[in-house]
Amino acid sequence: MTPGTTPLPETNGPASAATNDAGSAQDSPNGGANLVVVATPIGNLNDLSPRAVATLAGSDVIACEDTRRTRRLLTHAGISGKRLVSLFAANEQTRTPQIIEALAHGNQVALVSDAGTPGISDPGCMLVDAVASAGFTVSVVPGPSALTASLAVSGIPHDRFCFEGFLPRKGSRRRSRLRLLSADKRASVIFEAPSRLVGTLEDISAAFGPTRRVTVARELTKTFEDVWRGEASEVLDQARDRADAGLLRGECVIVIAGDRRRRGSDNDPV
Ligand code: SAM
Repeated sequence: MTPGTTPLPETNGPASAATNDAGSAQDSPNGGANLVVVATPIGNLNDLSPRAVATLAGSDVIACEDTRRTRRLLTHAGISGKRLVSLFAANEQTRTPQIIEALAHGNQVALVSDAGTPGISDPGCMLVDAVASAGFTVSVVPGPSALTASLAVSGIPHDRFCFEGFLPRKGSRRRSRLRLLSADKRASVIFEAPSRLVGTLEDISAAFGPTRRVTVARELTKTFEDVWRGEASEVLDQARDRADAGLLRGECVIVIAGDRRRRGSDNDPV
């Protein structure tokens, strides 16, 4: 063991049952990659790809945000007996050397997040960088992400786009970020909690103008998937109607059209 590195905890799963019916590290579909970043569904569990299932089944260790949530996903996929270790924003720094230690002992490690693609407004980037820097191979099983799913369903031109993730919570910082984005020719993608949606759409309407095209994508791939599109002021009105009816629950993404009135070369930085 590397001096000073605490080993991965033996908790979170029946570590004695290292493999299961669905596969083992030897028949991994990832060319023997050491760390595999695996995308998981953003709502509909049937969106878990066959290669994701095979990779999770063939991994010795699965690093995940919430072990209970990932256990449910594994159960849905018919995978049992996997060793799960938690990896979230607050422990990524301490967990990373432990995972590198596990890789050094020949384990294949899969990285998942609670939903979607790890590293997209989720932990994982620090681990990937450290694992690659330590000389191990990192591979990916791509798949669902609220980022690409919302763009795909938006109807807003997104040949170029800017992913903002979550806006600053503080009103003044949020509004100045939105003012900057309003001059961008690229579409903007913003993750937002439903409880803040109406307030953020008010700020968007003020910063981008009430006629800028906006799409809100809520609960994508889930039973109550709800997507509405229009000018910023219309989309805001519809959000208020939904809030009044108690329908603003779940998770949502806001896509805003770029400033297409601005002249300039396609090679402009914004
Ligand atoms: N890594 C994830 C991904 O690739 O989709 C994103 C994680 S981020 C912490 C969670 C945010 O993604 C939510 O607050 C919401 O903005 C968005 N999101 C996740 N699932 C969604 C869904 N089914 N429908 C709409 N937005 C969703």
